[in-house]
Amino acid sequence: MRVDIVTLFPGMVEPALADSIVGRARERGLVDLRVHNLRDWAAGKHRVTDDTPFGGGGGMIMKPEPLAACIEALRGPESRVVLLDPAGRRFTQEVAREYASRPHLVLLCGRYEGVDERVREHLVDEELSIGDYVLSGGEAAALVVAEAVTRLQPGALGDAGAPTRDSFSRGLLEHPHYTRPEVFQGWGVPDVLRSGDHALIERWKRLMAVWRTWQRRRELLETADLSPEEQKWVDGFRQGRTPDDYLAQGRATHE
Ligand code: SAM
Repeated sequence: MRVDIVTLFPGMVEPALADSIVGRARERGLVDLRVHNLRDWAAGKHRVTDDTPFGGGGGMIMKPEPLAACIEALRGPESRVVLLDPAGRRFTQEVAREYASRPHLVLLCGRYEGVDERVREHLVDEELSIGDYVLSGGEAAALVVAEAVTRLQPGALGDAGAPTRDSFSRGLLEHPHYTRPEVFQGWGVPDVLRSGDHALIERWKRLMAVWRTWQRRRELLETADLSPEEQKWVDGFRQGRTPDDYLAQGRATHE
């Protein structure tokens, strides 16, 4: 997959793509991430990319010509051209999956008061927001998208885990994790995780994922992809049951 990030501040973006999972995925050719300076498409000696708004008001607006030239240069038959913008479609794991299955993404970072409306209306395929808050530029937003999409490329996580277990992959939050020491400041690790019984551990993880989702993001359960047993747990939580009720039951049926 190829991802082009277009920004007025490439120096903010490139270093963040150099290390860890994204850096390794790039090195291994799993994702072709390229960072471009929008100024390269701006005309004239001063390569101006912004101007004052018609109708007055403070701030500067990004001019349409450099963005149009850049989109024309980067767009191919299978490209998705995305403008990062607080007014856009909300970015979620589902959108990340959708993007990850595409061959080419162009991420345009806005700055100042944003871009000339005609760019949004006529030149991009969609606008995307990473949440209901305003950043000073689209760079951090583009990095969020690039990282979420890279994690989903086959092989990108190596030994670091599987995206299918991550929060939101099945519409659920992920179960809790523990590592050594077994007792930390008097707080222990759940017995089941030290039992060596893989079937029981697997069931505990699913149960705790459903419980955590029930406690924190109940609305996700309405569309989550639940097995009949998981649905039974949700019905039980609704009636006041807790994971302990099912853990005891699991052990009993298992033993
Ligand atoms: N005046 C704009 C408004 O009120 O909607 C905000 C412009 S913001 C200061 C500058 C740029 O940051 C935007 O053009 C966009 O590219 C980026 N940006 C800011 N917040 C964002 C968000 N929540 N999601 C995606 N991009 C964002």
